[in-house]
Amino acid sequence: MVAKSALRSRKRFGGSLQKYFLLDVAWTETPGRPAFLGSISLLASYWEILADWERVRHADYLLELAASMFPQPGPKPKAFRILHSELSSLASGETPSAAARKAEAAFLAVGGWGPDLGGCRRCGLPPGLLGRKEARAIRFLLSEGRFLCGGCAASGGLSISLGAVRTWKALQSSSPSLLRRLRIPNNILEELQGVIPEYIELHLGKSFRSLGSRKKG
Ligand SMILES: [Zn+2]
Repeated sequence: MVAKSALRSRKRFGGSLQKYFLLDVAWTETPGRPAFLGSISLLASYWEILADWERVRHADYLLELAASMFPQPGPKPKAFRILHSELSSLASGETPSAAARKAEAAFLAVGGWGPDLGGCRRCGLPPGLLGRKEARAIRFLLSEGRFLCGGCAASGGLSISLGAVRTWKALQSSSPSLLRRLRIPNNILEELQGVIPEYIELHLGKSFRSLGSRKKG
């Protein structure tokens, strides 16, 4: 009875509004019988996302990304905390592309996709120890998830600045509170926009509808 009326009301909302709420839903399942809905409570609302189309577009992207990167059933507490934190940030006015890059980098790290930004693939120098010459002309190798410093790279890969490498590395800490505090300068943000989504698309083998018309930076 309760389950039936809940199903009916879900139909009425067309499935589009629940995305912007975090609900705690409890139900019991008995084999061979319909699930019995116990309770629903509202834990958080991301309602302010609806105030702005860019927020909506990016929130949908984060949801699509999380579902694609973590498709297996069962709890994913780390990925879930990142998703919740970045949706909350979007709702409270974070630059949409910053929320997207933060979630992407953190999801990649949590899911074990790297990339390994600890040091140059050839000479091993970490980003923090690169001299002026090595820091110039860094190339990021999309397929390998590594970078070559300016001293080792001849060609190939994507050009990436030292600032972008260090920012991406910081985002890999994937701690929601650190992600929230981190302010990404606009030029770095634009640069990462041209690299991280490419990396995800290559390694996940799919492109994302929700950001289909994104500008490449
Ligand atoms: Zn090197």
